[in-house]
Amino acid sequence: MGGGTAGWMAASALAHEFKRLPISITLVESDEIGTVGVGEATLPHIRNFNTALNIDEVTFMKATEATFKLGIEFCNWGRIGDRYIHPFGDYGEKIDGIPFYQHWLRLQKLGLASRLDDYAFPTSIAEANRFRHPSTDPTRIESTYGYAYQFDATRYAAFLRQFAEARGVVRRQGKVVDTRLDAETGHVAALTLDSGEVVAADLYVDCSGFRGLLIEQALKTGYDDWSQWLPCNRALAVPCESRGTLTPFTRATALEAGWQWRIPLQHRTGNGYVYCSSFISDEDASRRLLGNLDAPALADPRQLYFTTGRRKKLWNRNVVAIGLAAGFLEPLESTSIHLIQEGISELLHIFPDKRFLQSDIDEYNRRMGVNFERVRDFLLLHYAATQRDDTEMWRHFRNLKLPDSLEEKIQIWLTRGQLIRYEFGVFLPPSWVAVMLGQNLLPRHYDPRVDRMAHDTLVQNAEGLRQRVNAAVSATPDHKDYIRQMGAAS
Ligand code: FAD
Repeated sequence: MGGGTAGWMAASALAHEFKRLPISITLVESDEIGTVGVGEATLPHIRNFNTALNIDEVTFMKATEATFKLGIEFCNWGRIGDRYIHPFGDYGEKIDGIPFYQHWLRLQKLGLASRLDDYAFPTSIAEANRFRHPSTDPTRIESTYGYAYQFDATRYAAFLRQFAEARGVVRRQGKVVDTRLDAETGHVAALTLDSGEVVAADLYVDCSGFRGLLIEQALKTGYDDWSQWLPCNRALAVPCESRGTLTPFTRATALEAGWQWRIPLQHRTGNGYVYCSSFISDEDASRRLLGNLDAPALADPRQLYFTTGRRKKLWNRNVVAIGLAAGFLEPLESTSIHLIQEGISELLHIFPDKRFLQSDIDEYNRRMGVNFERVRDFLLLHYAATQRDDTEMWRHFRNLKLPDSLEEKIQIWLTRGQLIRYEFGVFLPPSWVAVMLGQNLLPRHYDPRVDRMAHDTLVQNAEGLRQRVNAAVSATPDHKDYIRQMGAAS
């Protein structure tokens, strides 16, 4: 149900996975309603999705005007004037079996450290606007990172539509005007389109966007509203011309009542202001966004409304909600498409038969629920780990009671410089380190094992690492040239 990014990703993955099995897939979408039309920045996991579908990278990049993404640059988050990159990769390499950042904390206490970013290869090439595919040789510094893409989401959905239709997915265009429930089981039994056509299935994947046509409007599943932690509830999105350097990273700049994104694609740059309507009017937000563009706008800003949170159940009866129908967390760390991907892969793992076992449904809901919560905590960290108090919004976060899971994580970090490891969740320790140190949360102590190494040896090791990173950066091509050379320019 639905043909946005979520609908076509789900249809493509299911068609690919179940080829040669007697399962038929129909996708219903409405040209009149259209799609949300945003969602341009991704996480490295999208490559696993494309690879699993045997999608060729060059063909995909050309079709979607994609650029490479090495991470996100955060401006003005800790304090106004601060900036750091959350890279898709590690800081340096382990020394003596201990993550480099622990050694950096010791050097930093001694006043001998350069910026942590100077020891991270992905951050250093991002800052230099360079890119190359990671090396497969684990001894090289050029192997210590991953990458994602920035792409035109509408073109990605169109690209996947071709893929899915070529593999037997049947597309029905029309507006669903009625949903019939089975009187006995309460399952969704059939959808009626405005043409009068009836579409019936055993399993429904609700990718109908914010409206949650099946999961909410038909099944009344309920929503966990997380606005008390993530109060931003509106966005304005506007594309502008692509000019000058093509940066291999997304930028998120903290503003007075939210933050602004900048996502460079080959043919244009996506921009948007995510804000909280209690702290700024739509008109002021629009003025602020347009005033911050680095090239002429290509359209008027589009307004979007949302409530942060997720459905109480992501799988209810015979409906699995994926994409915006499942829930929404602001795009600060580009996690929505990733959560779509997680939803699809969990569904493939626990694909039901017609009995719809409650234990399968519960397990899906448990796993996806935790995935959403982990992302929520990580996003909230950006607002909680701040020294800003210059506007009402930032003061709001200074006094906020955090979820216990996040409070505990921050306290352990501050006390011992360690990070609690989770059972699962998309962001691994280096990501937490990036944000915590990037926003000036310096722990009081570091891993005591670091002191095993003689002081001079550590200084030499760190300097050697920094020089290797520098040399490798110089040997890395310009991002735009690289895209052209690999034949992926549109
Ligand atoms: P939609 O695109 O809304 O698609 C819904 C589909 O359902 C459409 O095909 C529509 O026609 C159909 N439909 C609905 N009702 C009916 C009906 N009655 N009858 C027939 N068809 C119907 N994600 C990222 O990963 N990275 C980002 O940088 C990012 N930025 C974002 C910025 C903003 C401001 C917002 C709001 C979201 C952002 N997202 C981002 C999220 C991303 O846009 C979505 O996760 C993604 O586009 C998937 O949307 P969807 O397919 O669930 O819904």
